Amino acid sequence: MKTLILSSYNQNKIKEFRYLLRSLVGWGLVDLLGIGKRLRLLEDGSSYQENAKIKAQEVAQATGHFALADDSGLEVDALFGAPGMYSARYAGQTASDEDSMNFLLKHLTDVKEEHRTARFRCVLCLAGPNGDPIFTFEGVCEGTILLHQQGKHGFGYDPLFIPTKEELLTVGFAHPNFLGKTFGELPSRVKNRISHRAKAIQKLIPALDQILSS
Ligand code: IMP
Repeated sequence: MKTLILSSYNQNKIKEFRYLLRSLVGWGLVDLLGIGKRLRLLEDGSSYQENAKIKAQEVAQATGHFALADDSGLEVDALFGAPGMYSARYAGQTASDEDSMNFLLKHLTDVKEEHRTARFRCVLCLAGPNGDPIFTFEGVCEGTILLHQQGKHGFGYDPLFIPTKEELLTVGFAHPNFLGKTFGELPSRVKNRISHRAKAIQKLIPALDQILSS
């Protein structure tokens, strides 16, 4: 049995990671609260990849275990890809999810529905016990930004983000109950089939299996 440390203090991300990795065999998942020391995870890279690598490497070096880090964000076309990798601090370092969503809506005030296309992007980095980054994987989920919040599920920008019909179709979820609903309204099992994080994790799982068998 090998240990995989989930390199995040974001409880919402950890919950999703645990769900998405629930059928993983041969790995014990530990989150940062479980390692008994507080690490300062810097995000001073210039890309999602760099940030994910920094976080994974730091945690692997501090613990001597495999570490998995995610750097993610929301890219809005009408804002030329903003907030992107700055999504968490878009409305300021101490801003709440509510503040960030209001800030985003303010920037999109004059943008018509058909131009509110966006996507969530997630980059995962897996680092080995010595801190060397071994793999990075990326997942993207396409959608649009609603004019106002809908739904209470999830976190971050979920109540504003409606995944496209195509995203739902690819996993057989294009049911009228799900079409046009935000991630904040959709059951978490639906988000966890089509999300950026789910897609990146799907690519990661064979790599984890391969490490165990090598
Ligand atoms: P970071 O990866 O810690 O820099 O933060 C990513 C930020 O992007 C989060 O704080 C959210 O604002 C946003 N974000 C990333 N993934 C999601 C998601 O699945 N739902 C909603 N917002 C997300």
